[in-house]
Amino acid sequence: MKILTCVGTRPNFIKITRLSECFEKYNSVDYKLLHTGQHYDANMSDVFFNELGINKPDYYLDAQGDSQVTLIADIMVKIESIFKKWKPDWVIVPGDVNSSVACAFAASRNGIKVAHLESGLRSFDRTMPEEINRIIIDDLSDLFFITEPSGTKNLLAENKNADLLKFVGNTMIDSLVKFMPKIDASTILKDLNVDGEYAVLTFHRPGNVDNIRSLKKLVGLLSKIASKIKLIFPIHPRTKNNLEKHGLSEVLKHPNIVIAKPLGYLDFLHLLKYSQFILTDSGGIQEESTFLQVPCITIRPNTERPITIDIGSNQLMDLDEDKIFQAISKILSNRYQKSQIPQLWDGRASERIVDILMDTAQ
Ligand code: UDP
Repeated sequence: MKILTCVGTRPNFIKITRLSECFEKYNSVDYKLLHTGQHYDANMSDVFFNELGINKPDYYLDAQGDSQVTLIADIMVKIESIFKKWKPDWVIVPGDVNSSVACAFAASRNGIKVAHLESGLRSFDRTMPEEINRIIIDDLSDLFFITEPSGTKNLLAENKNADLLKFVGNTMIDSLVKFMPKIDASTILKDLNVDGEYAVLTFHRPGNVDNIRSLKKLVGLLSKIASKIKLIFPIHPRTKNNLEKHGLSEVLKHPNIVIAKPLGYLDFLHLLKYSQFILTDSGGIQEESTFLQVPCITIRPNTERPITIDIGSNQLMDLDEDKIFQAISKILSNRYQKSQIPQLWDGRASERIVDILMDTAQ
């Protein structure tokens, strides 16, 4: 059996770290990895391959594109030529990024079966490009690997075949479990000169950082939070550029705000694990904070990961300074109850996925 996993972005890399070792126990599989090149620089790509011991990709597409459409198109054209030379039986695509939708589409048109990791998640917000990607990938998929109960419910509501829906847990948590000793050993707090209590902020979604109104609100919020607790902000290049472009970057010099470049996985997870809370607009961080039982405030109107809300570790908020400040005060005064860890988020999802895929050859 020939299996090709296709990755292209930071969150993708983190979701596939254990697959190759799990396939190793099967002699009958020829397993390869493809990197589209969507995220290509040291901070957003190389660091994850190095730290997480991901093998050098067998194929690198060096995808180019100055818009989402040209990037997707370039990936489709380039991957098709690989499909023609090395026709896999299965293509595995993680998550909801443009690389994943491009690879799934090209695979499907070439008669190659698609297995979707993190299938069935829905924000029900079609203004998010990722939501459209999720729907398209699931429409093209032949096997659905599901991280949380909402995934099964959503896919059944879309009339997918129940026999193909596989609730396996969360491969992002597999990486957390596997690398916990290295996460604990990170010296990032010392490197950043931080001791005592702190919170972490990540903020990069175009819907939040591409308009001046929400950037201005962010600036007000940052100084208010920094008056109460030290804030570590590994700033995404997009956010930094936009703050500078609009003359709003003065806040980054606040003495209680520690600015860092986007961090490697081990350092970032160390920061997250020992923080009082995280403020974010990321998808995956909602899940990582849930596993680490660190309270998360997600600055988005909706989430495709409702288990994090149901379980009580995550709350959704818009950029309303007063409401966010109230929530933070509650967390800091220890009125926050530690939440449970969702079912099957146990570090073994990759094994389940590999066993199910190998069973399809029987
Ligand atoms: N992450 C990281 N360094 C950082 C910020 C995030 O390693 O400075 C990790 C984070 O722990 C998570 C992933 O990147 O595993 C999430 O990526 P991102 O927020 O870009 O994507 P999303 O999950 O929103 O699709």
